[in-house]
Amino acid sequence: MKVDRPAVRIVGAGPTGALLAILLQRRGHAVELYETRPDPRGRPPESGRSINLALADRGIHALQLAGVFRDLEQALLPMRGRLIHDAEGGTSLQPYGQRPNELIYSISRHRLNQTLLEVAARQPGVTVHFEHRFESAEFDEGTALIRDLRRDRLISVPMEPLLATDGAGSWMRRSMNSAHLIDAHETDLEHGYKELTIPPGPGGSFRMADDALHIWPRGNFMLIALPNNDGSFTATLFLPKRGPVSFAQLSDAGGADEFLSRHFPDAHELMPNAAAEWQARPVGFLGTVSASPWHVRGEAMLIGDAAHAMVPFHGQGMNCCFEDCIEFDACAAGQPSWEAVFQQFGAARKPNTDAIAAMALDNYLEMRESVADPNFQLQQALSLELERRFPHRFIPRYSMVMFHHEIPYLTAQQRGAAQADILAELTRGEVSALSEVDFAHAESRINASLPPLREPV
Ligand SMILES: Cc1cc2nc3c(=O)[nH]c(=O)nc-3n(C[C@H](O)[C@H](O)[C@H](O)COP(=O)(O)OP(=O)(O)OC[C@H]3O[C@@H](n4cnc5c(N)ncnc54)[C@H](O)[C@@H]3O)c2cc1C
Repeated sequence: MKVDRPAVRIVGAGPTGALLAILLQRRGHAVELYETRPDPRGRPPESGRSINLALADRGIHALQLAGVFRDLEQALLPMRGRLIHDAEGGTSLQPYGQRPNELIYSISRHRLNQTLLEVAARQPGVTVHFEHRFESAEFDEGTALIRDLRRDRLISVPMEPLLATDGAGSWMRRSMNSAHLIDAHETDLEHGYKELTIPPGPGGSFRMADDALHIWPRGNFMLIALPNNDGSFTATLFLPKRGPVSFAQLSDAGGADEFLSRHFPDAHELMPNAAAEWQARPVGFLGTVSASPWHVRGEAMLIGDAAHAMVPFHGQGMNCCFEDCIEFDACAAGQPSWEAVFQQFGAARKPNTDAIAAMALDNYLEMRESVADPNFQLQQALSLELERRFPHRFIPRYSMVMFHHEIPYLTAQQRGAAQADILAELTRGEVSALSEVDFAHAESRINASLPPLREPV
């Protein structure tokens, strides 16, 4: 690939920055990628970040378009549904979808990031500067100050354009906001999270089903666990930060161990190191970031979590970031100036990222509480039946988000709201099964409020 277009600076070589570097290089740009941390290639993962992530159709589609999916395929562990662990120790599987390809995949964050960086770094014209931290922007001069941490010296680089993919705590977003060039907000969730490990069994075997995402819903808090390639599971406890049942009340390892054994006895049995991990690992913060606009003139643009971090309960944060990269790349193809690219991208993308951020918040209640409710379970079964009967009009909202990259998030949110009304109507009262008369009524409601979807592409 010939590198003949203007150089692009990218700050932050996480999943978004690395994928964006690959795409823009393919478009012919030279790319300078700056990353605070040391090179992760050939190193063990750093602790403190979520260890594995759920990858779904939108993320896979973007990785395929960028030509990197093949490099990752081997590392994926398919999960076909939620395996619910009730308080009495019983389990039940709630399938995510109803077609063989309607799966989501657990992938190691470290492996994903390493692979994307390996691919990015071997492209001609891409230079990755590790241990280089973006520190501030001089918007009037159009320059950014980046510190070379190894030599402890500041470098000034021209911005137009600088793409800030520096994550939820983005310094670029904070610089833009404190210069009153954008309006940005960070809304903390009242719940935090802590990661714990279920180690592998003998010979690297899995000690629970390895083809599901495990959930222990307990009302105002929950535990989840995703499988890893080495036979272990990463378990994440989501719990209020303050209040009677909260991280604040469980500051010592003994109390935490007792809490885990009381509420999650089957998982606790499989976590011999829970007390030590509780002490060693911090409580992670969760929240939603919103900013408007995402850019300053043609100089700098926020992309990925820097623009729209969301709570992780739909497993879509990174999937959404990958979709950003594809859409940004498409905008970069057709506009005469960076400012026009930024404007087009922000206008097209923000309604969709707002929609998924709101759906991710809704999903928290669904995961920690509703999944255990018989009416919710009936509605889930009914939505799958309606999808079987009316596949071009009715697709469960979860499926639209997770398995249909051709349906924008905003459409999924809007159609999901209309579908929720229909489901509520059909399951009002003491309903346990529906008659053909009910389905005929459902069909007329669906036809009236849900226009046909176009065929998947
Ligand atoms: C507990 C948890 C679970 C999650 N689970 C899922 C899931 O299952 N599925 C999913 O799709 N998403 C999930 N997410 C969301 C996902 O992690 C993020 O959406 C994704 O990592 C965002 O990628 P990013 O590259 O935009 O930002 P980040 O991953 O945060 O990367 C930002 C990069 O920028 C670097 N950086 C930061 N500041 C600077 C600076 N000043 N100068 C230079 N470099 C800098 C950082 O070191 C980092 O490498 C989860 C998030 C959390 C917290």
